[in-house]
Amino acid sequence: MTAQTLLEKIKLQTRPEDELALIKRAYEFAAKAHQGQTRKSGEPYITHPLATASELVDMRLDSPTIAAALLHDVCEDTCHSIEDIRKEFGDEIAFLVQGVTKLDKIRYRGTERSAESLRKMFLAIGEDVRVVLLKLVDRFHNMKTLGSLPPEKQKRIALETLEIYAPLAYRLGMAELSGRLEDLAFPYVYPTEYEWLMRETKETYAIWERYTASIKPTLAEELIKEKIPFLEINARAKHYYSLYKKLLRYGMDVGKITDIVALRIIVPTIEDCYATLGVIHKLWKPLPGRIKDYIALPKPNGYRSLHTTVIGPENRQIEIQMRTPEMHEEAEYGIAAHWAYSEMKRRDTKAYAQNRSSLADLKHFSWIEQIREWQKEFKNPEEFLEALKIDFFKNRIFVLTPKGDAFDLPEDSTPIDFAYHVHTDIGNTAVGAKVNGKMVALDHVLKNGDVVEILKQKNKKPSRDWLKIVKSAQARKHISTFLKHSEEDKKFEKRGGETVEFNLMIRDRVGLLRDVTHLLARHKINIKKVDTDTKNQKWASLMIHAQKFKNKTEVEKMMVRLKGIKGVEDVSYKLL
Ligand code: MN
Repeated sequence: MTAQTLLEKIKLQTRPEDELALIKRAYEFAAKAHQGQTRKSGEPYITHPLATASELVDMRLDSPTIAAALLHDVCEDTCHSIEDIRKEFGDEIAFLVQGVTKLDKIRYRGTERSAESLRKMFLAIGEDVRVVLLKLVDRFHNMKTLGSLPPEKQKRIALETLEIYAPLAYRLGMAELSGRLEDLAFPYVYPTEYEWLMRETKETYAIWERYTASIKPTLAEELIKEKIPFLEINARAKHYYSLYKKLLRYGMDVGKITDIVALRIIVPTIEDCYATLGVIHKLWKPLPGRIKDYIALPKPNGYRSLHTTVIGPENRQIEIQMRTPEMHEEAEYGIAAHWAYSEMKRRDTKAYAQNRSSLADLKHFSWIEQIREWQKEFKNPEEFLEALKIDFFKNRIFVLTPKGDAFDLPEDSTPIDFAYHVHTDIGNTAVGAKVNGKMVALDHVLKNGDVVEILKQKNKKPSRDWLKIVKSAQARKHISTFLKHSEEDKKFEKRGGETVEFNLMIRDRVGLLRDVTHLLARHKINIKKVDTDTKNQKWASLMIHAQKFKNKTEVEKMMVRLKGIKGVEDVSYKLL
């Protein structure tokens, strides 16, 4: 991809002159900034932003997004700052570039509690769907050139792609991009399984391709006879990783998979889709229960098409899909197809220019709402749950540790909330915080994508005022618990030096009493009195009066230690 071919492609879309000039200017700025830099593959660095922009042009995203794509690595890898971009290209493009930079900080190492919460965070931090699309396409190009990176990086990036990026692309309706991302990641994440699959299916794929090629003419002939003006008949091979996942459910038996290759027919209208279905069923017997009308009932990610599986020549089952060009575009580009630069805008650039203000409003339009609209149709409880989960993060924000670990918190959370979510001890000893590298007060309100670092001090204690500041139930609970304990400790100290009575339920054995007294002595606890009661044959009880505990926590710790002694079945205590 060169700048020349990119600009020529954009010109075909008849965008307004000022937008063309903007894209050109962004290219020149990026080319200059990346001058002399190379990718790990040895290519000039600018090839990467160019390839990213080119994908987005194919998706017909708006011109600020194309410009942002060209500029997206300028802040990371060159001496330019986001303020330079703002000065040169304005707030909107600076916002998009900054969004991508924020998303760069999210890391998935496969050890996180849940990939799902990371996916949610990704969407929330992206804020604007254009940022997420840009990032997905950026990753797509990086995956294509992953071979030049060191093996360890390859594995981490591929795993992240498989667990975070591909599922996100799918959920945004870009099944095709999702499948391509998975296939690029597959050999790096599961090399053995990938090789196995390649060996196992090489023949099968070839057989299927020959088969679909052989029935295509019959089908075309029949459609012409019935006067259905089809635009295309394609054979569509299943993506490898998707096939692999299906095989896991089918006992790894390739023979059981009937949709390794499907035929796809593109026809002008929805009526033509149903008419084509009729023609196919007249030609070959359909398999019962395999007609799927995703036109009447789209998938939750917006996918629309009509599917059927028939018993074709040679008694082979084959899946056939029918869709309109519009549905095809949606399946390729998902939410992006709904997003910007619609057919109308392309044809009528004047109307488009007039509509630009409303397009800018769209930026803030909650696209999550749109996904939910798609999901309304859905009856499957699992998918419905997914829809609810999206709802869940409406009032949540996502913040990161300096290492890139993600935590989700309620809106308006503070560094104290964050500290307690990372670890109770970090919360209890927090004295200050840095947000995005700058010192802030502990009641500072955090925003999506903030990188938060907590400054700690040993022996520091939480203050009662914190209860008024924190937003999360978790932080509140930890602070209350701490305060309650320290209250009890104060009372304890007031009565300091007094006696604690331990009551132990024991199975007596030789040396048990010695073990108990040794334990107490080792922790410098004085024993004032020991009493045993062995009336019961099976059970005995042991009563110990001990002194010199500093606080209640120490007593409780001792209780746990006593329980650890062999023969001690249960321990209780009271303050005398
Ligand atoms: Mn990049």
